[in-house]
Amino acid sequence: MAAQFDIKSYPGNIINGKFVSTQATRHSIDPATGEALYEVPVATKHALDAAVGHAREAFKTWSKTSFDERAKLVLRWADAIEANKDELGKLLTMEQGKPIDLANTEVGLTVQWLRTFATLELKDEVLDDNEERTIYLTRVPIGVCGAIVPWNWPVLLGLGKVGPALLTGNTLIMKPSPFTPYCDLKLGELAMGIFPPGVFQVLSGGDDLGPWMTEHPGIDMITFTGSIETGKRVAASCAKTLKRYVLELGGNDAAIVCEDVDISKCLPKITMMAFLNSGQICMCAKRIYVHEKIYDEFRDAMVEFTKNHVKTGGGFEPGVVVGPVQNDMQFKFVKDMYADIDKCGWTAALQGKARGDSKGYFIEPAIIDNPPDDSRIVVEEPFGPIVPLLKWSDEDEVIDRANGLKTGLGASVWAKDLERAERIARRLSAGSVWVNSHFDVAPNVPFGGHKESGSGVEWGIEGMKKFTNTTSLWVWKKVFA
Ligand code: NAD
Repeated sequence: MAAQFDIKSYPGNIINGKFVSTQATRHSIDPATGEALYEVPVATKHALDAAVGHAREAFKTWSKTSFDERAKLVLRWADAIEANKDELGKLLTMEQGKPIDLANTEVGLTVQWLRTFATLELKDEVLDDNEERTIYLTRVPIGVCGAIVPWNWPVLLGLGKVGPALLTGNTLIMKPSPFTPYCDLKLGELAMGIFPPGVFQVLSGGDDLGPWMTEHPGIDMITFTGSIETGKRVAASCAKTLKRYVLELGGNDAAIVCEDVDISKCLPKITMMAFLNSGQICMCAKRIYVHEKIYDEFRDAMVEFTKNHVKTGGGFEPGVVVGPVQNDMQFKFVKDMYADIDKCGWTAALQGKARGDSKGYFIEPAIIDNPPDDSRIVVEEPFGPIVPLLKWSDEDEVIDRANGLKTGLGASVWAKDLERAERIARRLSAGSVWVNSHFDVAPNVPFGGHKESGSGVEWGIEGMKKFTNTTSLWVWKKVFA
């Protein structure tokens, strides 16, 4: 079953509070059926220039509004999203492929994220205060921001940029991934009657729109989520105009499982964290290091659990965990990784397979049994439902192996002995580290990567600060006294 939307073509990009249609249109594909979805706009460079002009104009007023006024509008937007949550959930499953429960969760989290952001006010700090002078550290908005969004969590990751940018007094132009433009346009539509024109605009476009944004002299900051490769291009492009940027990039998270765990209690969560969203999460457990004393038992239990509880299918089918991979490019990449199972001589504890019986991009989960540390499946981010289990015996050695890649997004340690777990956790080089969990996130907790997994953070007060410049304000009080 697929969701039905009775529309052939979306009315336009959201520019200065209005729909602006484009001459050219394009569409994405429902990854579960291979069918074309409705047409969406393709922004031209001229449309981007217009949007930037409106954003600069709107900034003059919006940057002077109080935090409370901005928060009031963000809360109204959150209410509007909540009122449309069912439609958005269906649209998300239709364009992204994720199971409907997960799509509804993403929309629900987004509402919660906006509501929490609306409580995170940045206040002046007083750095020095005496009879002669007061020195404040104030935070001022940067200007016009460009938000570049990936296809795996287009709603939460998109609005996780928009909320903080607007609340700190910036204006913003959002560019969805060409693979998933539908919900992001809808979110812009819901915002139309709420924010003043030009404050928040959405441009759907082709592959050239992102580079046009990073190069644009009228955009002051880029907030980007996507692959490491693209992140490097974004940074190089921003350097030409010295734009500020925040980069949230790829990860290859290690999960370290100690020998004292109760396997039946941690295995379901670890398995789900490997295969959730078909493995297409930056912070999935992508390398699972299991202590040699429990390795065989853990591996066999994981295979059994996956066979019995991790169902593959279309996002609207009940009980599905692994929906289709999101797009053809990713499907080919993951299939190539599967083809390496035999070619590279890896042992598959669970031999996943691509389904040939459907036009959708379906791949069943695979578990690789203790491949070498330098194998592709360990070193590369697969971004699909395939995960290696790796044996370890020595604590220092497993920490070195976990830290041994250029990525550093998330990592977890699983152990009954909390002192030991925390000792290991504190030595892991990653932006988020969990003990006895994986992939916990919250709107008031900063989120970002070490090493090539990113630059800067999003969310929480630290994430809000990234949308500001600091001004050190010196006030001498007695000069004319
Ligand atoms: P991607 O890098 O291909 O694309 C991301 C966005 O950048 C898209 O909107 C795309 O159109 C745009 N883009 C492409 N080329 C560009 C360029 N030269 N200049 C400017 N913009 C450009 O990434 P993706 O395939 O959409 O997403 C998957 C990747 O994102 C994975 O590596 C995943 O780990 C990572 N990711 C990271 C986080 C995080 O928070 N750290 C979260 C989700 C996904």
